[in-house]
Amino acid sequence: CGIFGVIGVTDAANFVALGLHALQHRGQEAGGIVSYAPGEGFNSARRFGYVRDNFTKQSLMETLPGALAIGHVRYSTAGSKGAAIRDVQPFFGEFSMGGAAIAHNGNITNAEALRRELIERGSIFQSSSDSECIIHLMARSLQRDIPSRMEDALRRVEGAFSVVAMTRTKLIGVRDALGVRPLVLGKIGDGWCLSSETCALDIIGAEYVREIEPGEMVVITDEGVESTRPFRSRKSRFCIFEHVYFSRPDSIIGGRSVYETRRQIGVELAREAPVEADLVCPVPDSGTPAAIGYAHESGIPYGMGIIRNQYMGRTFIEPTEQIRNMGVRLKLNVNRALIKGKRVILVDDSVVRGTTSRKIKEMILDAGAAEVHFRIASPPTAWPCFYGVDTPQREKLLAATMSEDEMCEHLGVDSLKFISLDGLYRAAGEAEGRNDKAPQYCDACFSGEYPVEPADMIEKGFKL
Ligand code: SF4
Repeated sequence: CGIFGVIGVTDAANFVALGLHALQHRGQEAGGIVSYAPGEGFNSARRFGYVRDNFTKQSLMETLPGALAIGHVRYSTAGSKGAAIRDVQPFFGEFSMGGAAIAHNGNITNAEALRRELIERGSIFQSSSDSECIIHLMARSLQRDIPSRMEDALRRVEGAFSVVAMTRTKLIGVRDALGVRPLVLGKIGDGWCLSSETCALDIIGAEYVREIEPGEMVVITDEGVESTRPFRSRKSRFCIFEHVYFSRPDSIIGGRSVYETRRQIGVELAREAPVEADLVCPVPDSGTPAAIGYAHESGIPYGMGIIRNQYMGRTFIEPTEQIRNMGVRLKLNVNRALIKGKRVILVDDSVVRGTTSRKIKEMILDAGAAEVHFRIASPPTAWPCFYGVDTPQREKLLAATMSEDEMCEHLGVDSLKFISLDGLYRAAGEAEGRNDKAPQYCDACFSGEYPVEPADMIEKGFKL
């Protein structure tokens, strides 16, 4: 999901809409905005579909007045797929000291246990979303102010959370102790903003200030930014897949350009897995920088052998397998004139179920390619993510049941190579590669080493 919040600017909701538009790649199912204005109170709007189709209408934006607003774009991971509007964030709660709205990116790994406990103690849930637990935990806290209630609530929550919240006078941002999901602070005029990624600061002309640190809470008012560390400090385990796929290439993470990391992945891949070929083609869009890096390092010409229809969503994010299967040809088409007769290296970000890769291979061969070699910008995805990226159950992951050679045969390609974990870490700026004793990132979907125990899933029988 993508989250964004602004304080201290006129018509803050318009800025939030623009920020959410820049974060649309993080969630395309639905979006919501809550704003506050003295005399008007809290107002909210939640809609299915793209931000540009909803939050550009003047008639709707006029209902969201005020200099303080937060928003969320939803990507269904926890909660029901094809969600009801009641699952669309931000969520709102009314407390004795006033109202508060929250928007959450990530996944709460003990949400089911918390939900059971809260329902037994009288909470009435409105949605199927794991994030709603935070509001109910806040309601049960005995603290006298909302930031302290949030602290109380988030101490009970396990998993990955970047949260943007607001009261009548405060914009609040929090990251979990491992900093699995991103959150950055920006400055706009006399106001401030919080965003999942820096690309959303650029769109509103805000200046990047810094990342919210793992385990940090910032409370922003007219007086400025106050920072506290309510959670036990732990070594950061940022999601390495944000570098590979999830974040936009024009965002900066940890002082490093996502584009540059992806290009460097291609360089590492070319060193680790060279092959004789005539053309390096990206599977657009997230494979593009890695393909550029591969072509540069290998000296093999780069070409746009696959063209993406810009008006379709991203395959990975669509909720059902049926839609995903239909989607490939609607989204991607082969540039026949370029491909015909060539030995083609296809660079893609990941192989998850393998269905998309197979279809792409068929399209390339149908177009007359002489050979097809897959080079993948992430290690084999052999484990599901429980921290907010929608990977399928383990049995459906190709790499969970097949070796690299078996996957190559299954996909029917001339060769298939994945970047090594060390190569990926080097590309992300870790010159020595992965520190196996204390990994610098979360890489559980590749390594099976989960930095936070997925309690709900273990209860359901998931084996680590
Ligand atoms: Fe990111 Fe993978 Fe960790 Fe999920 S399991 S947070 S996708 S690195």
